[in-house]
Amino acid sequence: MDVNDVTAAVGKAEEPGCLRGFPPIRVDLHVHTVASGHAYSTVEECARYASSKGLEAIAVTDHGPAVPGSGNLYHFRNLKVLPRRWHGVWILRSVEANILDTEGRLDLPDRVLENLDLVHAGLHPYTGYQGESVEDHTRALLAAIAHPLVDVIVHPDNPKYPVDMRKVAEAARRYGKALEVNNSSFVYTREGSEALCHEMVREVVRAGGLLSVGSDAHVATFAGEFDHAVEIILQNDVRPEAVVNYSIMRLEDFLRSRGKTLRLEG
Ligand SMILES: [Zn+2]
Ligand SMILES: [Zn+2]
Repeated sequence: MDVNDVTAAVGKAEEPGCLRGFPPIRVDLHVHTVASGHAYSTVEECARYASSKGLEAIAVTDHGPAVPGSGNLYHFRNLKVLPRRWHGVWILRSVEANILDTEGRLDLPDRVLENLDLVHAGLHPYTGYQGESVEDHTRALLAAIAHPLVDVIVHPDNPKYPVDMRKVAEAARRYGKALEVNNSSFVYTREGSEALCHEMVREVVRAGGLLSVGSDAHVATFAGEFDHAVEIILQNDVRPEAVVNYSIMRLEDFLRSRGKTLRLEG
């Protein structure tokens, strides 16, 4: 990361979406579409709203096949048909994969995951995951963090699946993975996440690790909504360069550090 990029971004303090000197977050890494089965907008509708809010990119992160009603293997293999740019917004091909067990097994095979721009993974109810304790959930997340194709662990602060946050943050830092601050956790879902989110962000800062920010929009109007997540980031003195998606350039840099190349023209 060129430090000048950060300085230039921070300098645009008056821009919309920018809070108290933190660069505005221009990439929504976590957006669902009708393909998730319980979300209500199309990719185009999400792109249009993202454009109206000044975003550079959205990542389409529909739930993996283990969530009832979500996309199957064909859906994820066929993401290549999406236009790379829609309404002036880059469209990134991704997934919110499900961690199925304490060994970190995911619900999509590597041959599908390796063709996506980036891979999110997390724990969700009704997916067959059987873990019951802090030890189980921590083991599951540590295994997913060690999966070579996983880039981001979504909402590790979910009170439904409490973990040893220090171990998770340290492992994520060691593997160069990002832990997500999920804006929806404070608006619609995962009640009780706030204290755990503060703890997660503190542990990431302490470990010198990386964070991503996602709206987790299940309807287009919520794409690019980050206010609660950014507030928590500000309260915990996160350095801008620790956030992997404040711009498409920063995201490219993060993915490069993971050995992945974002081919936006393809
Ligand atoms: Zn989720
Ligand atoms: Zn989600």
